[in-house]
Amino acid sequence: MADPAAETTIKVVCRFRPLNSSEVARGDKYIPKFQGDDCVHIAGKPYHFDRVFQSDTTQVQFYNAVAQKIVRDVLGGYNGTIFAYGQTASGKTHTMEGKLHDSDMMGIIPRIVEDIFNYIYSMDENLEFHIKVSYFEIYLDKIKDLLDMSKVNLSVHEDKNRVPYVKGCTERFVSCPDEVMDAIDEGKSCRHVAVTNMNEHSSRSHSIFLINIKQENSQTGQKLTGKLYLVDLAGSEKVGKTGAEGTVLDEAKMINKSLSSLGNVISALAEGSSYVPYRDSKMTRILQDSLGGNCRTTMVICCSPSAFNDAETRSTLMFGQRAKTIKNTVTLNVELTAEQWKKKWERENEKNKTLKNTVTWLEAELNRWRSGESVPVEDQFNKEQAKAEVQALDSTLNNDKTAPTPALSSPPGLKLTEAETQKYGAEMAKLYKELDDKDDEINQQSQLLESLKEQMLDQEELLGSSRRDHDILQTELNRLLAENEASKEEVKEVLQALEELAVNYDQKSQEVEDKAQEFEALSEELNEKSSSLASIDSELQKLKEMTNHQRKRVTEMMSSLLKDLAEIGIAVGSNDIKQQESSGLIDEEFTMARLFISKMKSEVKAMVKRSKQLESSRAESSQKMEEAEMELIAFQLRVSQHEAKIKSLTDSLQTVEQKKRQLEEHVDSLNEQIVRIKAQEKVNTMEKENEIQSAHEVKDAVEKQIQSHRQIHQKQISSLRDELDNKEKLMTELQDLNQKIMLEQERLKVEHEKLKAADQEKSRQLQELTVLQDRREQAGQDLKGLEETVARELQTLHNLRRLFVQDLATRVKKNAKMNSDDAESSAAQKQKICFLESNLEQLTKAHKQLLRDNADLRGELPKLEKRLRATAERVKALEAALREAKENAAIDRKRYQQEMERIKDAAKPKNMGRRASIAKPIRPGQLPGASPINTSVNRSNLIQNNQPAGIKGGGSNRNMHQCDETSE
Ligand code: ADP
Ligand code: MG
Repeated sequence: MADPAAETTIKVVCRFRPLNSSEVARGDKYIPKFQGDDCVHIAGKPYHFDRVFQSDTTQVQFYNAVAQKIVRDVLGGYNGTIFAYGQTASGKTHTMEGKLHDSDMMGIIPRIVEDIFNYIYSMDENLEFHIKVSYFEIYLDKIKDLLDMSKVNLSVHEDKNRVPYVKGCTERFVSCPDEVMDAIDEGKSCRHVAVTNMNEHSSRSHSIFLINIKQENSQTGQKLTGKLYLVDLAGSEKVGKTGAEGTVLDEAKMINKSLSSLGNVISALAEGSSYVPYRDSKMTRILQDSLGGNCRTTMVICCSPSAFNDAETRSTLMFGQRAKTIKNTVTLNVELTAEQWKKKWERENEKNKTLKNTVTWLEAELNRWRSGESVPVEDQFNKEQAKAEVQALDSTLNNDKTAPTPALSSPPGLKLTEAETQKYGAEMAKLYKELDDKDDEINQQSQLLESLKEQMLDQEELLGSSRRDHDILQTELNRLLAENEASKEEVKEVLQALEELAVNYDQKSQEVEDKAQEFEALSEELNEKSSSLASIDSELQKLKEMTNHQRKRVTEMMSSLLKDLAEIGIAVGSNDIKQQESSGLIDEEFTMARLFISKMKSEVKAMVKRSKQLESSRAESSQKMEEAEMELIAFQLRVSQHEAKIKSLTDSLQTVEQKKRQLEEHVDSLNEQIVRIKAQEKVNTMEKENEIQSAHEVKDAVEKQIQSHRQIHQKQISSLRDELDNKEKLMTELQDLNQKIMLEQERLKVEHEKLKAADQEKSRQLQELTVLQDRREQAGQDLKGLEETVARELQTLHNLRRLFVQDLATRVKKNAKMNSDDAESSAAQKQKICFLESNLEQLTKAHKQLLRDNADLRGELPKLEKRLRATAERVKALEAALREAKENAAIDRKRYQQEMERIKDAAKPKNMGRRASIAKPIRPGQLPGASPINTSVNRSNLIQNNQPAGIKGGGSNRNMHQCDETSE
């Protein structure tokens, strides 16, 4: 407390690090030669410092020798500073910080922190301490607070004692070493976060750790303050050497600026220059007190021992030597109590008095000299004595707080009066104040600039994003246009397909008409056939009756004949006609009759067979009739189906026409929209070009546009989706139609098969009929032969009768001649002859009847032949019709298959187009403008996920239902 203001020089120590591994690997030479503990020789040249530390110095040794003492100074109310100066990788950070949490390797700062608290704990109980720390770095002459990242460009101000300080810098109150270490850790991590290349950054920036200690004695009320700056300077090498790639020239200049101004300040101080350029850089400004001011300063000169860094090491050592000459005036930072202030004032007053006395003495002496008098030595002003008096007074002013402000030293040869000095001092103070204000202003402006820059970046980003949006919208628009084109083409295709369908429908209706006509013809034919069948039936009935009749007659005839013959035999036997000639005749007659009977038998058999055949043919024809009836029913059904089909086709045609009309309208509206959108876009681009400054407005406008676009797009998309739905419906309908047609075709096929079978049956019948005809012809021929034989027999019978009559006549004549008694016998003979004659008449009648029957049968034969021919022709016609129907069915099937394929082909690209549109990627993190894609994608997903299923389900069900209805 009683220390007077003391002048001290800056303490400079030198520390050499060991050769590092890469230097060892390179085989670099270890150049320093140490002499004692305060001298080092480089290339034979000696450099003297307060201490020189060799490479094997440990952290604790270095701390104890250099920094420990400063703790006591700071806690005693003095300011202190420790600088680390040297080229990059010379061990500055190693010296200042070391490994912060390693008890062996930790550097000066953590050790000081620990010591300060330990020391405080050992001090007087009445002392109360307030410790606060600040941590900041200076990069490109900008002060950045490491405890608050938001403070990036702090300014330097002067306090009421004209001591510079960093204004607005975070001051953190701490109460234990851990809190200080936490602050350091925090600051270091902040520093790491903010930069990309930490090594490069730390080698180009100064980091300053400030510990501010205030103490108050609760008993005496004495207040002391001490500030300790711990400075890890930027690499002392020129930026050019390590290579400032990526830094522009101005930046390189700024990097070097603070260090070179430090050099200038030190040079000025070393040379004792009247003007020290502290204000050249923020760093020298902050450390103004540490360099030639009220501060105990230690500078650690860190050096590399490698021959490779020889030049840099030497310049570093030179710098240290220069700094060694700087003198600081150290005073105690004490806040005086009122009593102390009073005493001080009194002493100052006394001092003032002595000084005034001196001045009057000197003035008197001067006047004597001027008037030409020579003043004797004893009368002359005693400089030494006056000085001693003043110093004695000064020494009593032990609490002189205010450091002697750097005197406004006047240039040599120019003497200023006290008033002038004061005036200029005030002026200068004012000017400095203004300068600081300007600095502040500059700081504010630069912060404003930063914020504006940020805003600009934001705006640019916004602009970029809106541009991107615009691009996206453009692509979307293009896509929509393309889609529109595609849908137009699709519509065209659909229209074409519809036209084709219409044509097809026409063809189908034509076919239906043809079929109906055919059906009518067939039904007519069927009617004819049934009528002919009925006629044939009746004929058959007639024939049956006839054959029955004939059979009856024949049996009757046969029985009568047999009776006759028996009677004849009886008559012949009873009459005893034993005449040789006549008996031979009767034998002949018998044989003839037997022959006749056998022939008759065969004829009867043939007749029976024929009747059977006729019966079978009747059964067949009845079967045929049934089949024809069935066919009729089938045809009727087909006609009804065709009618229903025609109805449904006309309905579908109508709906398709309506749809076509709608689509055309839609296309027109889309075209209009496109035109509108294009116009809007043009306007937008114009606006964008013109109004970059009013980006917000543009953004709003863009957003509005985007919204409107989105709405339009949504509308378009929904309409397109409707269209798609309609088309899908149409497709399903068409498919149903096709299925129906296929079913029809199959049915036709079955019918065809049936007809084929019928045809075969008919051909078989034809064959049978031809066989029947052959047989009939044969029977005819047989009958002819029979007739002939019957005729011949009749002739022979006639002859026999004639002979018999002649014989009888001759016999009667002979008998009359020879024997008149035989009159009674002749009467019996006459009776017999009568009987025979009647028999003969009957036989002739039967013969005649047979002839007539034969003629009748012969007349019937051509009729039957004709009928047969007609049925054969009909069968042929039916066959031809069947073939035609088959061919038609084949053509139909082919056409429908083609149509189906075409429809499928038409449907395929539609689906693919939709898939392509689905396949569009989604981009995250975009502005609302980009959302249309999202929504479209979502929508398309929806379409994929929900709608088709719904549509398919509903539509197909409905269609199925329709199909069922039609088929029913
Ligand atoms: P600067 O801060 O000057 O750029 P550093 O302090 O980062 O240099 O030191 C560079 C390297 O050299 C570090 O790895 C450090 O551990 C090592 N180093 C520096 N000085 C010494 C020393 N005296 N003893 C051992 N290693 C050292
Ligand atoms: Mg470093």
